[in-house]
Amino acid sequence: MKICLISAEVAPFAKTGGLGDVAAALARALAAAGHEVRIFLPLYGNLRTGWDTIVGVDFLRDIPLQMGPHHYRFSIQTAPLPGGGPWVYFVGCPPLYARPSVYSAEWDEPLRHAALTRAALLSCQRMGFAPDILHVNDWHAGLAPLLLKTEFGWDRLFARTKSVLTIHNLAYQGVVPWKYVREIGLEGSAAQLAGSAGAGRFGFLETGLVHANAVTTVSRTYAREIQTPAQGFGLDGLLRRMGGKLLGIPNGVDTQEWSPVDDAKIPAAYTADDLSGKAICKEKLLEEAGLTPADGAPVIGIVSRMSSQKGFELCFRALPRLLDEEDLRIVVLGSGDPRLEGFFDGLQRRYPERVRFANRYDDALAHRIEAGSDMFLMPSKFEPCGLNQMYSLLYGTVPIVHRTGGLADTVSIYDPETGEGTGIVFDHFTEAGLDWALRGALKLWKQPEHWKRMQQNGMAQDFSWTQRVKEYEALYGLLTG
Ligand code: ADP
Repeated sequence: MKICLISAEVAPFAKTGGLGDVAAALARALAAAGHEVRIFLPLYGNLRTGWDTIVGVDFLRDIPLQMGPHHYRFSIQTAPLPGGGPWVYFVGCPPLYARPSVYSAEWDEPLRHAALTRAALLSCQRMGFAPDILHVNDWHAGLAPLLLKTEFGWDRLFARTKSVLTIHNLAYQGVVPWKYVREIGLEGSAAQLAGSAGAGRFGFLETGLVHANAVTTVSRTYAREIQTPAQGFGLDGLLRRMGGKLLGIPNGVDTQEWSPVDDAKIPAAYTADDLSGKAICKEKLLEEAGLTPADGAPVIGIVSRMSSQKGFELCFRALPRLLDEEDLRIVVLGSGDPRLEGFFDGLQRRYPERVRFANRYDDALAHRIEAGSDMFLMPSKFEPCGLNQMYSLLYGTVPIVHRTGGLADTVSIYDPETGEGTGIVFDHFTEAGLDWALRGALKLWKQPEHWKRMQQNGMAQDFSWTQRVKEYEALYGLLTG
């Protein structure tokens, strides 16, 4: 099949969270399964890597891009996705994308995303690339299913193209004031824009949900949860009415990037049978963090966007209490909400020998924390899929998670009676729930046989994309068949 992907993030070029990892891994897995994949991403001013591999495409240069009253021009550059992947098409349009971050809070943010969709479809036309599937991600590309039918509907190139929209996080919907109809130049499609959020507004994501041929989200539990008022962010009614058009397909792990056996970013490799390398990773992590050696104490790792979604509010009292009572080390990596950053900063000031907070984005350190920690804390309030708990399982780092979304689907509670289970899962999103989980984890830590069993159970899990991609192929087949 010919597949056109659109994503605001594609790792390793541009990534702020799971979207980047997943878009890249899916593209790679689809290409490996024999499909012809082209993936579109803006040429951001702050691409993390790849500048030396990107080349211009001669016949895709200086193409006019009209956005309402705004005239832009874009040029396509391309590079292969590292790790044997398909071609990534970078949309170069400096006035929109030459900025120091992937996302911006500027007035033209909706234009930046809408422009990616238009540029992708215009490029398909110029390349004569007729996709069987147009697979787009999150609100950023939410207008694509509609534009495919309206603005680009005249072109027979797209006559057979079916659209798929994947929700990576329903909390972000791209709801914008109606004036953007004019700013983006959507007058011709205005009647089909969806806006349940209130008068005078429309939503990129909601519009996509209405017009896509199929909608997927990234775990089975999350697919159910978003149909409830508690987690539907106002769109649960629409999602409930979708019936079979809405599907949960769990994310996988890019094992080229995340495997303790051959991860070049960690100080020592290890396997489930021989965990001695993990002990070295732990020692080095504590050394790097400037914390006192563990001497039998466990290390709890956290790598996360600092957002209220991630549930760290529950830690405000639970972690200091635990640190007062137990010997443990905590290494935290993340940035975002100043209130949460302030909490972890305060924690490291109060326990300078035992807590370290790296307030930044650092991919290599994320790998070293996964490898060097004994436990990984992810108390998310909601979690569409979550990747770090899966990385943790594969790295023998026992996840402590709240039973929600993808966390509920990927981590099972350890039962000392049967020796089955991979982590600690708490049901109630309360301080008491988290406290129970942390204390349970520490109790198991003191029983090395159980601990090792739990680690090995986790390391034996299969989250490979080779399996996951079959579900996308089945969906594509159904749509085009
Ligand atoms: P979300 O997409 O909600 O942020 P996920 O668990 O799906 O959550 O994906 C998060 C991804 O971003 C993981 O690959 C994680 O390692 C990475 N990540 C998050 N914060 C940081 C950070 N500060 N430094 C490095 N990687 C990070």
